[in-house]
Amino acid sequence: MKIKKLVWWNAKTGTLEPDLNRAQLFKAIKLNRLKKIVRFSDWWVVYPIQGYNVSKYTIRCESGAWTCNCMYAKRYGRTCSHILAVKLFEGIISANRGLSTGAEDV
Ligand SMILES: [Zn+2]
Repeated sequence: MKIKKLVWWNAKTGTLEPDLNRAQLFKAIKLNRLKKIVRFSDWWVVYPIQGYNVSKYTIRCESGAWTCNCMYAKRYGRTCSHILAVKLFEGIISANRGLSTGAEDV
């Protein structure tokens, strides 16, 4: 299955999610599948995938602005796979039909 462009639909805001790529999508799906996301009172922690990385990251959403303390999010100020994973976890976004059945892992 070749995917050139991903489209994400934010059911709550009715907008398409920007700054996404294929690798982030599959990692976010994998994090959910492996149950690596835990919600605390007003933040989330994404735990590492064994054999893939060793860091855990903290994700927050303040006034609608999502932040993550990983290098990618901090350096580029963009949506990272951890934020995506939390949004999937909370049902804020969903992978469009077909993509979530992809067997590929990143
Ligand atoms: Zn991150």
